[in-house]
Amino acid sequence: MTGADVRKDFPILQQEINGHPLVYLDNAATSQKPRPVLEAIQRYYEHDNANVHRGVHTLGARATEAYELAREKVARFINAPSPEQVVFTRGTTESLNMIAYGYARRVLQPGDEIVITPAEHHSNLIPWQQAARATGAQLKYLPLQPDGQIRLEDVRQAVTDRTKLVAIAHVSNVLGTIHPVSELAEIAHARGAVLVVDGAQSVPHQPTDVQALDCDFLAFSGHKMCGPTGIGVLYGKRHLLAEMEPTYFGGEMIDVVELYESTWKQPPWKFEGGTPIIAGAVGLGAAVDYLQSVGMENIQRHSQALAAYALERLAEIPEIEVYGPGPGVARGGLVTFNLRGVHAHDLSTVLDAHGVAIRAGHHCCQPLMRILGVPATARASFYLYNTEADIDALVTALTTAKEFFQHAIG
Ligand code: PMP
Repeated sequence: MTGADVRKDFPILQQEINGHPLVYLDNAATSQKPRPVLEAIQRYYEHDNANVHRGVHTLGARATEAYELAREKVARFINAPSPEQVVFTRGTTESLNMIAYGYARRVLQPGDEIVITPAEHHSNLIPWQQAARATGAQLKYLPLQPDGQIRLEDVRQAVTDRTKLVAIAHVSNVLGTIHPVSELAEIAHARGAVLVVDGAQSVPHQPTDVQALDCDFLAFSGHKMCGPTGIGVLYGKRHLLAEMEPTYFGGEMIDVVELYESTWKQPPWKFEGGTPIIAGAVGLGAAVDYLQSVGMENIQRHSQALAAYALERLAEIPEIEVYGPGPGVARGGLVTFNLRGVHAHDLSTVLDAHGVAIRAGHHCCQPLMRILGVPATARASFYLYNTEADIDALVTALTTAKEFFQHAIG
């Protein structure tokens, strides 16, 4: 059950924007929340709220149980070997920064290399830039094919004995390109490098099996997968999390504190300094339950079918240029485009007047915008509750926008 069948679960979708039914096509930025997630958060605050891992009282025990149960659900969702390999963070950005601070800065030496692509989200680029600056390591960029794909032979050439880390998005948030993670893991591991995967756009949309992917770290955000904002995940292999230093020091994460030195708890708790994001984790656990009740294969099939339909319909407007893999190539559930001669922000404003919400801008991918030779793009991104009718509404609004901007298009 996807599309129209699940829309009723999302109260926010039942509204009009500027006199039109809301057509929400900005799911790569953040997803909407189904009623079971909203209810789980409310139920937690109404019945179980207390601090975790501390209070020796009933509510404290219930809150701890709820928090740790959420960790177990997430671990099962990504097929992590154990819940202890799931660290709760604020989101993808924080997870990647924690790897950069706690792991990369410790292992990188002058002359070492970090291999990434120029299509990375700033969250999977700047932490490595900063780590390179701090350690004397260097960034090495993989070349992109015209449609945004990478070639494995280029990866084999770029990854050398100097490479300590390969960092890549599983699915690009701009181009929708899907990168071959398990092959990348094999290449990285053959050279003794560690593979960091930015799963922000993959984990919400397709089944994820960290053991099959064999990635060393995986970062993702709850808010893009029907969960609340403010909660995300850092998965890591057991020996890497053991080796990695915490980023935040304080309450909750310690074992013994002396006057001049202290020791930490075991992972994942040593990474969760301070009162953790308890209600957020409970909400994420409910989101995982919800997504699994729909089925990740169904969601993947649905998003990809909508992306294929969108490509087909956008091709009807010759003034629209689409970026990323063409029809017939597997892609994530999003389509990025421009209307010739019109800035994406202006286009988005006109679409909003028709109730259609898309994202416009550089999508936190400025180096990629330079490669594409544009300041910004428009992006329509789909999720389980979108329908072909939403894409039809997008195309109708785009046709109106085309007439509106006729002078600019020429
Ligand atoms: N990486 C990718 C590929 C993304 O799409 C995003 C969110 N736009 C992020 C990282 C950052 O996620 P967050 O803002 O939730 O930390």
